[in-house]
Amino acid sequence: MKPPADAPVPDWAALRADFPILDQTVHGRPLVYLDNAATTQKPRAVIEALVRYYEHDNANVHRGVHELSYRATTAYEAARARAAQFIHAAVPEEIIFTRGTTEGLNLIAYTFTSRIKPGDAILVTEMEHHSNLVPWQLLARRTGAKLLFVPVTGDDGLLDLSGLDALLARNVKIFAFPHISNSLGTINPALELCARARRHGVITVVDAAQSAGHLPIDVQALGCDFLAFSGHKMAGPTGIGVLYGRQALLEAMDPFQGGGEMIASVQFEQSTWNKVPHKFEAGTPDIAGAVGLHAAMDYLDAIGRPAIAAHDGQLARDAFARLARVPGIRLFGPAGERGGLVSFGLAGAHAHDVVTFADREGIALRGGHHCTQPLWRKLGITATTRASFYLYNTAAEVDRLAEVIDQAARFFGG
Ligand code: PLP
Repeated sequence: MKPPADAPVPDWAALRADFPILDQTVHGRPLVYLDNAATTQKPRAVIEALVRYYEHDNANVHRGVHELSYRATTAYEAARARAAQFIHAAVPEEIIFTRGTTEGLNLIAYTFTSRIKPGDAILVTEMEHHSNLVPWQLLARRTGAKLLFVPVTGDDGLLDLSGLDALLARNVKIFAFPHISNSLGTINPALELCARARRHGVITVVDAAQSAGHLPIDVQALGCDFLAFSGHKMAGPTGIGVLYGRQALLEAMDPFQGGGEMIASVQFEQSTWNKVPHKFEAGTPDIAGAVGLHAAMDYLDAIGRPAIAAHDGQLARDAFARLARVPGIRLFGPAGERGGLVSFGLAGAHAHDVVTFADREGIALRGGHHCTQPLWRKLGITATTRASFYLYNTAAEVDRLAEVIDQAARFFGG
């Protein structure tokens, strides 16, 4: 993904200074934070928005008529409108605030219980994060539907789309897939996948956890029915996320959780539901989280997501190329265009040992199955080490990563 030729080049070093947490040493070494696929760090603008909200505006939303309640409600609904703009949804009503991607995906899977019948199928890929697999397993178990899988080709981490139309024709009702794989770094062709599903009348669900803070997203251009992401993976706070749904679908769906705010009228025996999106937001929402997410979206768009994608994609490609020279390494995911992360195994070393080794050098990595156990089982391993990049990471940090992983390979490889 390239930014437009006339776009100003961001001053990445100045932007890094916006993230106070990065200015520290760990085990006596400068912190190199490369665990961004798990969660990103927060710029001062987001931290200050949270403090400002709690110091000046905090109240519960929607239910009050006093000034602070009015301000909190205005701020919460402004964040919804901003989220709609961020992904180019047609109207703010198509934005449901959730706790994060996981809750958004569970919301769809749960509310589709009444719409799925025995013999129907749900199509996912072999590279799903457990958050985009287990909710569909539960839906299949509740309804008697079956799960089908788009295969992954191998270590290069691409989807094998040769059989996609045949799969979609097998009574598939929902096709859920990740925009960017959190384990492989693969950027899936979301536009094509949505178009092919639409031709078969299949509802599409895009897991945008790893893409929303990195790439520009236009849900109308994509033509997806649902798209979910998490604030904390895009410079925003934890505990807040977004589920986009096409309005007509949201109107037709059952509620998710029952409670305050999601109702129109309640009697002892039964209730009627509030309008979309409130129908899906039972109870007091994470108001401060929405305010912080608003600040994060403003922050990212002031830089430009094409520039961010170009920056962290380049760091990941450089890391891939540098790490390829390390003895005994096995790299996963595509060698060319990729999202901002690199996953690898080192001969003779468990991923947790590699992560511990790197931690002693001040480098924060993640080791394990990265919530994609079936994928790794298919590829014949149990765990990898993952380095994931964001806008504040630098070429010098890639050099440091390559140096330390080379040392680890020699240490564990003997
Ligand atoms: N989907 C993908 C691809 C992810 O990488 C993650 C988190 O790592 C999730 C879903 C779940 O996100 P959250 O834990 O924020 O709900």
